[in-house]
Amino acid sequence: MSELHKFLFEGLPVRGMVVRLDAAWKEILQRRATNSETGADPQPVRALLGEMTAASVLMQASIQFKGALVMQIFGDGPLKVAVTEVQSDLRFRTTAKVVGPIADGASLSAMVNVNNEGRCAITLDPQDKMPGQQPYQSLVPLYGDQHEKLEQLSSVLEHFMLQSQQIDTTLVLAANDECAAGLLIQRMPLKGEGNLAGAVTQHHEDEIGLNEDYNRIAILARSLTAQELLTLDPEDVMHRLFWEEKVLRYPALTGAEGPRFECSCSRERVGRMILSLGQDEAQAIVAERRTIEVGCDFCGMQYVFDAVDTAQVFTAAATQVPAPTAVQ
Ligand SMILES: [Zn+2]
Repeated sequence: MSELHKFLFEGLPVRGMVVRLDAAWKEILQRRATNSETGADPQPVRALLGEMTAASVLMQASIQFKGALVMQIFGDGPLKVAVTEVQSDLRFRTTAKVVGPIADGASLSAMVNVNNEGRCAITLDPQDKMPGQQPYQSLVPLYGDQHEKLEQLSSVLEHFMLQSQQIDTTLVLAANDECAAGLLIQRMPLKGEGNLAGAVTQHHEDEIGLNEDYNRIAILARSLTAQELLTLDPEDVMHRLFWEEKVLRYPALTGAEGPRFECSCSRERVGRMILSLGQDEAQAIVAERRTIEVGCDFCGMQYVFDAVDTAQVFTAAATQVPAPTAVQ
């Protein structure tokens, strides 16, 4: 069962979350493995995508934001890009593009940061955008303060939270082919909500790394091994680490309210993509191949448009009132 647990430390400016994804995670791997175009991703890519997915669920759940959180890692190695998207209702999807050989056990830098040119981008794409409004995007390198290559996604993201939000964050992440899981511990700002999207965030730079309660709990969190995170129930994780602390737990989010795999692709979206090709280009493809076929990189769904379907895309568009932005 995939589940997300949120908790607070009573009387302390510290909060935490544990996420565990199993059936939903296995479904993603299964779909990829049976996708005739891509096949299964190499083992280190699967592990990275699992960690990205667990981390993205934790980050999405920790902010007040309505829309998609998109985490992308891209760079100069055989893994061209890895991307995870989590909606504010915790639906998620993830995929990667591999362009060269990746050995079992390959490090993060060997995959995507060979010459320290790798980047991690976090984008917040609001659900109800104003006309012309751009998504918020923050970009961090995959190296630390001394330009040393970071080999753990958790280090990259802790760095990100510190740089962009001035929030102390501890992340423990792990993934294998059965489960993707994560633990997040965060020092809460004393005033205002720690919010990636919030324009009015109170920063407490002077407190970074100095709060004793946070530091004690962070050390406990870091003692969690990947093996424990992957095999223990979230309740057992919390109990094993924090049995001496006063932990206030919220009801677990699971099922239709919890983290779950769901792709947001649709035939209508593919239709809009065909529309953007222009009628001449679209008809030329149909003339040459008889159909336009578009496969979804996230779920493996194949969308097929024949000559009639393609013509209909353009007829339907012609009878619609153009949106204000289409006038320009
Ligand atoms: Zn899809």
